[in-house]
Amino acid sequence: MAFIADVILGVKPSATMVATQKARDLKAQGRDIISLSVGEPDFDTPDHIKEAGIAAIRRGETKYPPVLGIPALREAIAAKFKRENGISYKASDTIVGTGAKQILFNAFMATMNPGDEVIIPAPYWVSYPDMVQLCGGKPVIVGTTLKGGFKLQAEDLERAITPKTKWLVLNSPSNPSGAAYTAAELKSLTDVLVKHPHVWLLTDDMYEHLVYGDFVFTTPLQVEPSLYDRTLTLNGVSKAYAMTGWRIGYAAGPAVLIKAMDMLQGQQTSGATTIAQFAAVEALNGSQDHLPVFRKAFQERRDLVVSMLNQAKYLQCPMPEGAFYVYPSCADAIGKTTQDGKVIHTDEDFISGLLEQEGVAVVHGSAFGQGPNFRISYATSTKVLEDACSRIQRFTASLV
Ligand code: PLP
Repeated sequence: MAFIADVILGVKPSATMVATQKARDLKAQGRDIISLSVGEPDFDTPDHIKEAGIAAIRRGETKYPPVLGIPALREAIAAKFKRENGISYKASDTIVGTGAKQILFNAFMATMNPGDEVIIPAPYWVSYPDMVQLCGGKPVIVGTTLKGGFKLQAEDLERAITPKTKWLVLNSPSNPSGAAYTAAELKSLTDVLVKHPHVWLLTDDMYEHLVYGDFVFTTPLQVEPSLYDRTLTLNGVSKAYAMTGWRIGYAAGPAVLIKAMDMLQGQQTSGATTIAQFAAVEALNGSQDHLPVFRKAFQERRDLVVSMLNQAKYLQCPMPEGAFYVYPSCADAIGKTTQDGKVIHTDEDFISGLLEQEGVAVVHGSAFGQGPNFRISYATSTKVLEDACSRIQRFTASLV
């Protein structure tokens, strides 16, 4: 009898973590490695947010917080949804978690019965299907196309819904493709959901502030308010406030769900770190002056990377609307051979060859449920990105 539970043995380690570790190991061996695999901003947390955390420590705000979050943060979350998204939630509809990751996990844990289905459009953030599986549910992956901008199409959603469907997970802007839905595109999907009242919507708006050019971010409840009583709107401070290590995520949704998640979290981690919650209050209520600076830097990097990748032989890189990822196709490199004689059969072969030959670490698309592609995180300096993209160009040019 195995000591470790079957459910754990069935879960894959996060591909992004594996790629990041492999790059670290090679670096430690003295190789010249550029890692474009991590999903966090290279910026530091803005000073006024750090100061709010320090002030909380000095005031002695170091005790257990309420399970659902400190009142000041839950008020700030409700105010943020009203101010930035025009959607109405009361503070009592909100929940704070140890990162958005915990909220996602608890939302699935609180709702999955064996065999319940969760529709996840591919390419997807690596954690969704594994979390669903860990909670006893069944991920139902629905593919998208490069031509369709990696966005879920209404007819594909309609086809995927069964009597067992519990959730649709939408993530816009997307990790890993950077694709973001316009209001009209969202409406075509919410129109389908309106016809299927047993399906709930989990909208992961984590990258909302990282959209470029004149793209306008929209959250589904703005286009279809009738879905309030079956939508969980998820967000967090990790990406827009460069606070990945503070571990604060939040959501708002119907009382029946928040109550179940409260119960679950109460038996688990209890409330998220008090100090980090006070810092998050400042993030949401305080100055947002860093945001245009982040956006400008990310947009310049996106434009540089897309342009350089489209000049690389065999690669096709669409221009994403947001986040800090690009998701080029390497389909035309399949069947080619690397300098040391290895045939590229898959996107995983492509990224292994790239790492071995040129020392650039990226993540293969099949890890995100859709290939042959790979994901580049451009949350690093222009100089490093230029070097990395030149190496990618050299790698593809060397394929025969
Ligand atoms: N959702 C998406 C799409 C993400 O990319 C991430 C982090 O990579 C998260 C949620 C989780 O964020 P956190 O747990 O840092 O709040």
